[in-house]
Parts: sequence; structure tokens; C-alpha cells
Amino acid sequence: MSIKDPYCCSSCGAKFSSLVLFDWHRTGDYTNEHPHYGRSCRNNQQLLNHGAENIDGVWKMPMTESQAASLEALKARRNAKF
Ligand SMILES: [Zn+2]
Repeated sequence: MSIKDPYCCSSCGAKFSSLVLFDWHRTGDYTNEHPHYGRSCRNNQQLLNHGAENIDGVWKMPMTESQAASLEALKARRNAKF
């Protein structure tokens, strides 16, 4: 597995760019006893409602405005150095 490979769910087959989002899509209890019936996957609509987007078959979370701003700040600092 290279660093560019997405996290692939062995249960539903969905691919994720981040482990955090992958973990979020797995839900439910680690037990199979009533009234809990084990782990399951959230569906595409739930992922969309969560704010995730599917780009080329891979689910990812778009950057927030503050994340985008700090990325721009880092780029500016890097460009100023060289
Ligand atoms: Zn899944």
C-alpha cells in the first residue's frame, strides 16, 4: 500500500482519502447482541450530509476555510524562503 492509496472498506467497498473519514463511516457497536447488531457502514447520503464529497470514487472532506488559509500561509512562507 503506497501513501497515495485510499483507505478501502472491506465491508462496503467505499474508498476514503482519510482514516478519520473512514472511521466515521463505520458505525454501531462492537457487539452482536440484542438490541445491537454490530458494526455497519453509513450510506452515501449520510456521507454527503456529513459534508464529505466523492471525487473520482474516493470520499474526502473538503478543506475548511481556516485549513485553506493556513495552507496558503505555509505556501507563502515556503516561497519567501527560496
Ligand atoms: Zn464501509
